[in-house]
Amino acid sequence: MNSDIYLDNNATTPVDPEVMEAMLPYFTEYYGNASSINHPAGKKASEAVHKARLNIAELIGASEKEITFTSGATEAINLALQGVFHRYKKVGRHIITCTTEHRAVLDVCRYLEKQGAEITYLRVNRQGEIDLGELERSIRKDTILLSFMAANNETGVLHPIAEIAGISQRHKVLFFCDATQAIGKIPFSVAQYGIDLMAFSGHKMYGPKGVGALYIRRKSNRTQLEALLHGGGQENGLRAGTLNVPGIVGMGTAAALCQRAMKEESQRLEALRNQLENKLLTLEQSYVNGSSAERLPHVSNMCFRFLKAEQIMVGLRKIAMAAGSACATGSLNPSHVLLAMGLEKEDAHASLRFSLGRFTTPEEIDTAAQLIMQKVTELRNESPVWALYKQGIIS
Ligand SMILES: *Cc1c(COP(=O)(O)O)cnc(C)c1O
Repeated sequence: MNSDIYLDNNATTPVDPEVMEAMLPYFTEYYGNASSINHPAGKKASEAVHKARLNIAELIGASEKEITFTSGATEAINLALQGVFHRYKKVGRHIITCTTEHRAVLDVCRYLEKQGAEITYLRVNRQGEIDLGELERSIRKDTILLSFMAANNETGVLHPIAEIAGISQRHKVLFFCDATQAIGKIPFSVAQYGIDLMAFSGHKMYGPKGVGALYIRRKSNRTQLEALLHGGGQENGLRAGTLNVPGIVGMGTAAALCQRAMKEESQRLEALRNQLENKLLTLEQSYVNGSSAERLPHVSNMCFRFLKAEQIMVGLRKIAMAAGSACATGSLNPSHVLLAMGLEKEDAHASLRFSLGRFTTPEEIDTAAQLIMQKVTELRNESPVWALYKQGIIS
């Protein structure tokens, strides 16, 4: 059963009805293999893939030849990180990334360490921001790659992508960006920033699950990669396997819709997000994680001290929210992102993420704010820890 109020759009977004409409004929009517271009059925599929590639390239300021389709951001991240390491490991084995990256990046880094890579994990400050000076000082002669996400999935905190790209160019190292949460939500141009590789996903931008893309810079300085999957030679030999035509059509339509709606949507959602935060901040001992950093407009991560986020979620099943990231939910470990920002374990456990989306209404935000305020107050009234705080015994 679905929750009545969906504030978990960073975990996945619903498929926009217009996207679904565009996809449907590619299951039943135009079912050709996009590689079988010697007959009309295959041609039709191939043309649809081409159109999607154009839409997606336009959204990120790339050319369509620079888009490689994958099964999602996780695969695109694996292709980028493993592909660069295996292509350039004779030149150097050092990679720089950050402690607050998504598990899809951190786990690949751990894997590459076993393959002989040396990885520097930059720390962040209390706002989730890296120190660009420290980044520059961390670059060595054998550094081959910088890997930094555009927007954090848990807090919405943005990294200074243009500056990081500038540093990568000055030092002649590659820059890979996991932009899964930023694409389609805020203006983003790989050409303008000077990014070499960038991963993103259909199901975080109102497209379907199971499709994503890796942008690979081709202009001037072409980025070389070793493929992960070998087989049919699709996607310039970089990603073998029959193309997921309906998924790709869906992601292409989603990209076009995002481009059209982005400006108005982000302003609308920022206003709603601020409204939610302002209401919830009237609760004692509550704060916003990353509040003074540059953030995505539709994301809020809030700590309600002396509680457990799970208690609030269990008490409010009507509202879909997240504690930490979706992948970490259900585990008892507090969010690695919030711990990296220097939160105490207790405060990390007491933090909830709200991620608004295209279909979030003002009424839902009003209701959610009211229900969460009630629940937090109720839980605290029953809480011995809260009583200790009120008596001044703990702080
Ligand atoms: C969701 C997400 C991923 C994984 O994307 P999939 O398409 O589900 O594989 C990677 N990085 C970030 C920042 C994400 O939010």
